Amino acid sequence: MKIAISGAGVAGPSLAHWLLKTGHEPTLIEEAPGFRAGGYVIDFWGVGYDVAEKMGILPEVMARGYQVQEVRLVKESGAKAAGFSADVFRRMTHDRFTSLPRGELAEVIFNSVKDKTETLFSETITAIEDHGDGVSVTLQKGGTREFDLVVGADGLHSNVRRLVWGEQSQFEKPVGFHVAAFECPGYPHRDEDVYVSFAKPGLSISRFAMRDDRTLVLFIFENERMATPLPHDVAAKKAILHDIFGNMGWEAREMLDAMDDSAEVYFDRVSQAVVPQWSKGRAVLLGDAAACPSLLAGEGTGLAMTEAYVLAGELKQSGGDVAKAFSNYEARLRPFLEEKQKSALAFASSFAPRTEFGIWLRNMATHLMVIPPLADLLMGSSVKDDFDLPDYGM
Ligand SMILES: Cc1cc2nc3c(=O)[nH]c(=O)nc-3n(C[C@H](O)[C@H](O)[C@H](O)COP(=O)(O)OP(=O)(O)OC[C@H]3O[C@@H](n4cnc5c(N)ncnc54)[C@H](O)[C@@H]3O)c2cc1C
Repeated sequence: MKIAISGAGVAGPSLAHWLLKTGHEPTLIEEAPGFRAGGYVIDFWGVGYDVAEKMGILPEVMARGYQVQEVRLVKESGAKAAGFSADVFRRMTHDRFTSLPRGELAEVIFNSVKDKTETLFSETITAIEDHGDGVSVTLQKGGTREFDLVVGADGLHSNVRRLVWGEQSQFEKPVGFHVAAFECPGYPHRDEDVYVSFAKPGLSISRFAMRDDRTLVLFIFENERMATPLPHDVAAKKAILHDIFGNMGWEAREMLDAMDDSAEVYFDRVSQAVVPQWSKGRAVLLGDAAACPSLLAGEGTGLAMTEAYVLAGELKQSGGDVAKAFSNYEARLRPFLEEKQKSALAFASSFAPRTEFGIWLRNMATHLMVIPPLADLLMGSSVKDDFDLPDYGM
């Protein structure tokens, strides 16, 4: 089948990988002008880690990854207030855990398909017409083309979902925070392999030192701090962050200064996506477009890769019965994804506690993480993946 995939992030190229293996012809349609390798740092583990192994990309993922040693929560002076060793995650994941920039994971996946897959950069779908036995996909620049299926792998604010299912406000469930992130060279403070974080009520700033003297900075703030709609141009994003974090203390000013020299700043609401049905006719959703668990899950990339594997596997097994493949894909994954979304929400209050007491409580909880049974109690349900990867013989 000829399959149009909107979005060349994590889910889209993962699906292309498996579709190529099963004899299909994917076309990736990506609105960005090319591949961006950086971005915020993600933790990578769980069932997605197993999928990466099946894809044969694990050695490259590990080579690009960082082995975080410690999560350190600091006071305004910079002195350690609390934290825990990352060994707790290693133990829970049987040492199958790494951290790397999201764009680098996406790039490794994309590299596995780029020579065999048509990829249209700086392109987007403007209309989708389903005729029952195929879909006409109209591209902003490339005219109208015929495909057998169209896949929305275009993230939380999915374009395919908007065109086929309707406005995104119906499907986006904000969890109460905004997040901003950027990468900068030469930041004056570095703690190798330590994720360092400082919080004030409703605000949190963090940094992680990367290779080549680069640093990733992350800002999180509660929604009530921003009265305006989500900004889109970079100057407006920076102005809002200055306004919210300018007087926060610790390294906030240095971080904001570093941000001013950055050309790109990621800025978005932290939300989950809840879509009552992941497919409609010949259109299907994948990754964050279908069931974004938000950054609170710390696993969205691995889940998106798992969805891609299962969707391709079900298409293979259904022998051309697309409706059956879509329905099996959703039946296998929906309960697991809903559970992941639910357990992610339990962590919302620890990302940017809203009160001084909340910060104290979170810090106290981190002390308990050194005791394995208590760590299991606190984190176990979200770290554990209750999903067995089916064997599709791919
Ligand atoms: C701050 C932050 C921290 C996170 N931390 C973690 C973590 O620790 N671990 C983890 O596993 N996950 C984490 N996540 C979640 C993870 O990044 C996502 O779940 C994952 O990237 C989803 O993959 P995706 O391919 O569905 O969407 P994306 O990676 O968002 O890719 C979507 C792609 O679609 C493209 N696109 C969008 N609109 C269009 C359009 N109209 N036309 C064509 N293309 C389009 C985009 O440019 C992009 O390339 C975090 C997320 C955030 C924001």
